[in-house]
Amino acid sequence: LVALRGVNKHYGALHVLQDIDLEIAQGEVVVLIGPSGSGKSTLCRTINRLETIDSGSIEVDGKPLPAEGRELARLRAQVGMVFQSFNLFSHKTVLENVVLAQVKVGKVAKAEAEKTARELLERVGVGAQADKYPSQLSGGQQQRVAIARALAMNPKVMLFDEPTSALDPEMVNEVLEVMRSLATRGMTMVVVTHEMGFARSAANRVLFMADGKIVEENTPDAFFTAPRTDRAKDFLSKIL
Ligand code: ATP
Ligand code: MG
Repeated sequence: LVALRGVNKHYGALHVLQDIDLEIAQGEVVVLIGPSGSGKSTLCRTINRLETIDSGSIEVDGKPLPAEGRELARLRAQVGMVFQSFNLFSHKTVLENVVLAQVKVGKVAKAEAEKTARELLERVGVGAQADKYPSQLSGGQQQRVAIARALAMNPKVMLFDEPTSALDPEMVNEVLEVMRSLATRGMTMVVVTHEMGFARSAANRVLFMADGKIVEENTPDAFFTAPRTDRAKDFLSKIL
């Protein structure tokens, strides 16, 4: 469903993505871990073209990423992204947040968009908050609204960049639960996270990045019990 081939990216002298080859199958849950600065966020952001690349190719659903315009907006809808900071529109209600892009980008009729929005808010457990403003919600609730907003566009793949790292500990699980249930329903997902419990239980594959490269790639069980590279061993010894 997603294919990166020979992807390179530089920030000035920094070679932040180095010859990345990666294929993600339909329904697969890929967890991306690695030290700070290794390029995890950059890799994620290239997949919905929030970052451009210097060489190589990226395809989503068999089509190269469009550079601009309406095609790019459509791609962004197909590739949902949830960030560490929830990025909700603060002057819009929760419901409006989930309705907006459906109407503007998806050209869905307003009543239909509201119906979808209410269903999704219900599904992520914040149905009762629909008419509140984001600032009236807890961090965990806001993040679940952000997930509902992305889902409203009926994406083919969801990217999560440290979706729980800005949350108070007691709210982490409610967001991970929503992500687990998405995974169970067959959503294709790329998840950057430090939540190793989630990685172990929900991922089909773990990618370990260091210095702009995918250094190691394995099933979660194999990766956590028997990492092959010194970089991964060292990383795991610090976080587990
Ligand atoms: P973290 O775990 O801290 O989120 P990360 O693995 O997500 O790290 P990236 O955010 O992808 O890492 O950054 C990779 C490298 O690229 C870092 O050295 C970072 O400083 C650099 N970098 C990221 N964005 C930019 C930018 N817009 N301009 C210049 N350098 C950047
Ligand atoms: Mg990052």
